Amino acid sequence: MITFGVLDEHLETINEVTMTEIRYTSTRDANIEISASQAIIKGLSDDGGLFVPTQFPRLDTSLEEFADLDYRETAYRVMKLFLSDFTEEELRTCINNAYDSKFDTPEIAPLMEAGGSYFLELFHGRTIAFKDMALSILPHLLITAAKKNNVKEEIVILTATSGDTGKAALAGFAGVKGTRIIVFFPKDGVSPVQKKQMVTQKGDNTFVVGVDGNFDDCQTGVKNIFNNKELTDRLIQKGFRFSSANSINIGRLIPQVVYYVYAYSRLVKSGSIKPGEKIDFCVPTGNFGNILAGYYAKLIGLPVNKLICASNENKVLYDFFESGVYDRNRKFILTSSPSMDILISSNLERLIYHIAGDNAGANSRYMQELSQEGKYAIEDDMRGRLVDFVGFYADEAETAGKIRSLYEESGYIIDTHTAVAAASYDKYRQSYNPKVPAVIVSTASPYKFSRSVMTAIDKSNEAKGDFELIDEMSALSGVGIPDAIEEIRNAEIRHKTECRVDEMQAVAEGFLEKC
Ligand SMILES: *Cc1c(COP(=O)(O)O)cnc(C)c1O
Repeated sequence: MITFGVLDEHLETINEVTMTEIRYTSTRDANIEISASQAIIKGLSDDGGLFVPTQFPRLDTSLEEFADLDYRETAYRVMKLFLSDFTEEELRTCINNAYDSKFDTPEIAPLMEAGGSYFLELFHGRTIAFKDMALSILPHLLITAAKKNNVKEEIVILTATSGDTGKAALAGFAGVKGTRIIVFFPKDGVSPVQKKQMVTQKGDNTFVVGVDGNFDDCQTGVKNIFNNKELTDRLIQKGFRFSSANSINIGRLIPQVVYYVYAYSRLVKSGSIKPGEKIDFCVPTGNFGNILAGYYAKLIGLPVNKLICASNENKVLYDFFESGVYDRNRKFILTSSPSMDILISSNLERLIYHIAGDNAGANSRYMQELSQEGKYAIEDDMRGRLVDFVGFYADEAETAGKIRSLYEESGYIIDTHTAVAAASYDKYRQSYNPKVPAVIVSTASPYKFSRSVMTAIDKSNEAKGDFELIDEMSALSGVGIPDAIEEIRNAEIRHKTECRVDEMQAVAEGFLEKC
């Protein structure tokens, strides 16, 4: 491994000259090939497929050197590999605008140790959940990509949310010039905290609407707006172009590769591992975006042993890794880790495409089976290419039990999603007896799910009020209450619009006209 400064610099100039541009194709159409910035603007391919790199770059910074870099520099070294049509200045500006004092620690993603495992805390951004990691930078990537491609219109983000994504997207896009954001949520289908977080959102370019319907109604309404060609043409005339902030955009996926490299480099820095030693990652999984970013980190050269895919009782992914059959035909279960209550993990399509040998035809057939019969079974040779993954799951009792036992053992308090991962990791450790250290990816602050967490620690907490529990959690953990929670205690309600499903389009147009 080359570690001499002079040589490294020399290599870098060579790389800059000869580095091939990474292009993107669709998981459903091999004829498509576009640049990274174009893939970010489009979000989803017209054929319904997801954009994937046609080849994987390799890390060109040594693992030793990463240990000396801060989060932003790490982000630059990793993201430049994938977003190769962005200039250095463009990419650094995006990174600096995203990972700044919006995060409550300069480390951005601190690595903690508790109960014999490492926890990668991804909840230090504005909405105290891991979606901030990607949604803080996506707006900047999007407006930069629009400029590069001479898109003149203002970008209008349309999102339907069941809670967390809406707030993280609002926080990311609020006040970003050249963008507006409209969020639709089911007015009786989100938690009181989630609702309060959204309707108090500041920023003249934000618009939040409660819909008289469920999450599926909101999502269908948004899709109808996207697919209404007459409307989108009219809006282009008026200077607006719709885009989406959902987790299938590579502008959300690529920033997530960074923290896997960062976590690894912190272990090198602390002397816990030597550069080159493998480690495990255990990821609480819903839409399969986060863990896929870990897989991409491995593909570009990070020494990863296993990626442990942790599910809650909606264990469609666990069953898939066990049997090779993906089957969404089952009861949807509401759990205490709602951001993982998902039966169709959209980003899994990218993995299917890769293990089929980057085969768009084969992948399209599986996705068609999924939409027609709700299931598909992959070939044996494809199953053989899943060796990097192992699935485990934790039920509600195991999740609560893990929160309690870890607290009792170490004083460290984790949220319900992270607890699903920690409990799954315990099962993995029992079956595999791993010899390498593990990083458990911690996706939300326990303050965001204070009721479930405090009840897990002590059943008698059930009767107490929400803010009483928050104050007690702070006393127990010695961790200060995050601003995101303090803010909603007495924030002003700024968004009062409500509408029926059939009024969504008119309401969205009305907002665009009035500003
Ligand atoms: C979204 C979310 C997840 C699931 O992440 P995916 O990338 O969808 O797999 C897990 N935990 C929390 C707290 C989340 O908000």
